[in-house]
Amino acid sequence: MTSIRNALNLAATTLAAHHDNAMFEGEVLLAHVLEKTRTYLHTWPERALSEIELTTFNQLVKRRDNGEPSAYITGEQEFWSLSLTVTPDTLIPRPETELLVELALEHIPADAHDKIADLGTGSGAIALALASERPHSQIIAVDFSAAALTVAERNRKKHSLNNVTFMQGDWLAPLSEFTFQVIISNPPYIREDDAHLQQGDLPFEPRNALIAANNGLDDIQRIATDSRARLAYGGWLLIEHGYDQAADVSEIFEHHGYHNITAHRDLSGQPRVVCAQYNPGTKQDNHHDSP
Ligand code: GLN
Repeated sequence: MTSIRNALNLAATTLAAHHDNAMFEGEVLLAHVLEKTRTYLHTWPERALSEIELTTFNQLVKRRDNGEPSAYITGEQEFWSLSLTVTPDTLIPRPETELLVELALEHIPADAHDKIADLGTGSGAIALALASERPHSQIIAVDFSAAALTVAERNRKKHSLNNVTFMQGDWLAPLSEFTFQVIISNPPYIREDDAHLQQGDLPFEPRNALIAANNGLDDIQRIATDSRARLAYGGWLLIEHGYDQAADVSEIFEHHGYHNITAHRDLSGQPRVVCAQYNPGTKQDNHHDSP
């Protein structure tokens, strides 16, 4: 008979070969198998596991040991205190992406009735986080992948967030009828030959959500170009980027006529987000009488 404690110790020994936080990793998987919290495991370490529980747990440990991301094994990832369903059709939401949400909220007053676009929404993480914080604002979230949008819609329903609409398409293409106060995106930005693609969770994630042409800047460039026609006067564009792309992204924004360009670091100190404002009409049409 195997207790919770024994099963966890064995799993930690196995996982320690490839993972820094082996005990924690094992606990997440066992909590998932038992449909309990990690606290439960600490409260009842002597509880015996049934044969089926133990077999299932050991299979999950083996998958994790082979590198499969924990979020794909459990089908779940926490983002902005929302528990989200994730599948291999979606990127796994990262803690550093919460910076993008924080910065966007600075530009959306709590009682605003704004229109906000989230481009490349994946599991819906950013859109749903914003929707939960700004209940009077309307968020339109776009993804090219229909499979990702199925996951996003499931997450929307799970959290009963009725101020989010999902649309399928290529970046701003489906949004031609709208004007937004804020456009936000965590696009693909990794170079095709970047060694990070072979590390951690990345080999299991959708490549088209990670990789961009032109030194990882192609999609950022397209978003910066096309957002101008969709932003309200003084509207904000916020984009997440790679650790070494802050200068390139700022330059792209400047080149396209954005102003108030600011770069921001994430919790681990890496440059991660560039924000900028745009005033339609001012650059293309100097005679325009702007408010
Ligand atoms: N920040 C992620 C990583 O480097 C990539 C996410 C993205 O491409 N948008 O692991």
